[in-house]
Amino acid sequence: MLEVSHLSVAYGKHRALDDVKISVGEREIVVILGANGSGKTSLLKAIAGIVPKSAAKISLSGRDIAAMRANDIVEAGLALVPEGRGIFGELTVRENLLLGAYAKRARAKEKENLERTLSLFPKLSQRMEQAANTMSGGEQQMVAIGRALMSAPDILLLDEPSLGLSPLVCGELFASLGKIRSAGIGVLLVEQNAKRSLQIADRGYLIETGRITGEGSAAQLRDDPAVQRAYLGVE
Ligand code: ATP
Repeated sequence: MLEVSHLSVAYGKHRALDDVKISVGEREIVVILGANGSGKTSLLKAIAGIVPKSAAKISLSGRDIAAMRANDIVEAGLALVPEGRGIFGELTVRENLLLGAYAKRARAKEKENLERTLSLFPKLSQRMEQAANTMSGGEQQMVAIGRALMSAPDILLLDEPSLGLSPLVCGELFASLGKIRSAGIGVLLVEQNAKRSLQIADRGYLIETGRITGEGSAAQLRDDPAVQRAYLGVE
């Protein structure tokens, strides 16, 4: 569904991504594992049209999105949940969610999308009128993902969604990603929590200093001694 190739990003002379090739299929969770500064955030931002990239090929459901502006990429069916969530703390949960429905592709189905989002995150339905900044970290992450889902995406990009969450809340969050996949949405996930993400993901890629250095099914990556040493804390 999402096919990316020849993707390079440079900040001045610093090359953050070099000829990256990845793909995400329908109903697939794909995780990108990499150390700090390896280019994971740049990868998501480049796909979402937020940072400039060189002549990459990016297609979403067969449509070329490489040269599109960020808002047109949302209209084409791709939504990014940035690291740090990017929700509006002074606004209520409802207002945050409805902001996500601004995309033209989502406006006509706002009610259905809201119902679907609340069925994925039932806890939010009791908190609709609460200011987002009075919610817990896990609840705020649900609002951020919920807002992205309100644009009715075909594919969801998530940057470090479990950052700062307790193990229990983290478990709930990863379970909700499984439900999002079942709803037919592809998920591209950047995560520090390799253990949890390899439990839920179908496939994954390894990124080192801006280059893809490995890929495989989640099971293959879990069993790979180099992955175990680098990301799973196995000696
Ligand atoms: P982290 O896990 O620490 O967030 P990351 O894997 O997401 O890291 P990126 O944020 O994509 O990595 O950064 C990749 C490289 O590009 C880093 O060396 C970073 O310092 C650099 N970089 C990122 N954004 C910019 C920018 N706006 N200007 C200059 N350099 C940048």
